[in-house]
Amino acid sequence: MNKADLNHDEFANLWHPFTQMQTWAEDDPLIIVEGSGVKLIDIDDNEYYDANSSLWVNIHGHRRSEIDEAIVCQLGRVAHSTMLGLTHPLAVELAARLVDIAPHGLSRVFYSDSGSEAVEIALKMAFQYWRHRQQKRSKFVALGSGYHGDTVGSVSVGGISLFHGIFRDLLFDAEFVPSPYSFPDADSALAPVKDELIRNAGKIAALIAEPLVQGAAGMLVAPTGYLSGLRKLCTEHDVLLIVDEVATGFGRTGTMFACEQEGVSPDLMCVAKGITGGYLPLAATMTTEEVFSAFLGGPADGKTFYHGHSYTGNPLGCAAALASLDIFEKDGTLEHVREVSAIAKCELERFERLTHVGEIRQKGLMVGIELYDDVAGRCPYPPAATMGARVCRRARTMGLITRPLGDVIVFLPPLVSTATQVVEMLAIIENAIQMETDA
Ligand code: PMP
Repeated sequence: MNKADLNHDEFANLWHPFTQMQTWAEDDPLIIVEGSGVKLIDIDDNEYYDANSSLWVNIHGHRRSEIDEAIVCQLGRVAHSTMLGLTHPLAVELAARLVDIAPHGLSRVFYSDSGSEAVEIALKMAFQYWRHRQQKRSKFVALGSGYHGDTVGSVSVGGISLFHGIFRDLLFDAEFVPSPYSFPDADSALAPVKDELIRNAGKIAALIAEPLVQGAAGMLVAPTGYLSGLRKLCTEHDVLLIVDEVATGFGRTGTMFACEQEGVSPDLMCVAKGITGGYLPLAATMTTEEVFSAFLGGPADGKTFYHGHSYTGNPLGCAAALASLDIFEKDGTLEHVREVSAIAKCELERFERLTHVGEIRQKGLMVGIELYDDVAGRCPYPPAATMGARVCRRARTMGLITRPLGDVIVFLPPLVSTATQVVEMLAIIENAIQMETDA
């Protein structure tokens, strides 16, 4: 199909996620036809840095031969068979590998297809777990500014009104505590959590949190000690802790899972995005023997977990995930992330001199650069200015793709990015910010 026909059918038939389609229809969509390493290539052969890792999923680059080959090899056997009543070798092997690398105590793996589902499953597991323990606990505690996906359960524990407000009447009640980002230290951020756990004692099934960084809220970094404080409080008040590692998992913050940085083992952990190296939709909810064993019983005991999707544990996804974990070992990916993150940090220091850069937040290769109309007064741009989108559009003309979160410019490059590539990407973003905010 040529570009004109593609554009015609695109506007005639498609509805894009998180997109105002009226504005989209006024635009010239970028048509990606290929990927190579840390770059994407459009239909006119232009190359772009993939500076948000295709929505935070890509780890080892595009067209990585080891992952391509693993998928092709599995295709030569079978593309899909169900996990309902059957099993397959790669699902078994991957579960063992995940248990191996996960925080201590997480020994059970329940597959699904997306981060939202992994969260949905964790919430339902927590709820049902307490039923099996003869306790009627229906409440969840969630963090202000949190984001856990777009299904109804995960939206119920979402704390970003722009995304979640419209659905409020459709959702179950969650108790929100303020985002830890707004506090100077962990102790003050934990105080309202403690109050909440006391106020609703005996009614709370679980507390859910993104570890270390609230991604979709604009890469809001929590004070050190907050996550381990949550673990301590949940244990003291007998509440399950669900950690959503969908964005942070698989090396993004410099350790395999962000939890490790505060020595935390949650009761349930959700992973997705980077699990397949950014190749295929696969997710997992991991939990402990304690939670798992509460669901055991005879066929008539009513303890079965009635949840599952058609493509759960897809063999191609598992093949990609196993190949990705091999590359982590072979390439020393975690070590590499720590090195290039330090380089990114040095480069980002320069950004502080830009007139409209208000704050730079970083954890590993997870970076948010917040723009303000007036930095001294911490005064944001009027929403109609769409400054974040304008900067990203400008960056695109210079050969870099990223997507803003409001006026926060997101920099989450593939973990494989070299120091030189990181420096080049940040130079483009710096120029784009300067040109657009000074315009
Ligand atoms: N949890 C977190 C922390 C996320 O960042 C996201 C997606 N950005 C999700 C859940 C939802 O994942 P998915 O888009 O795969 O449903």
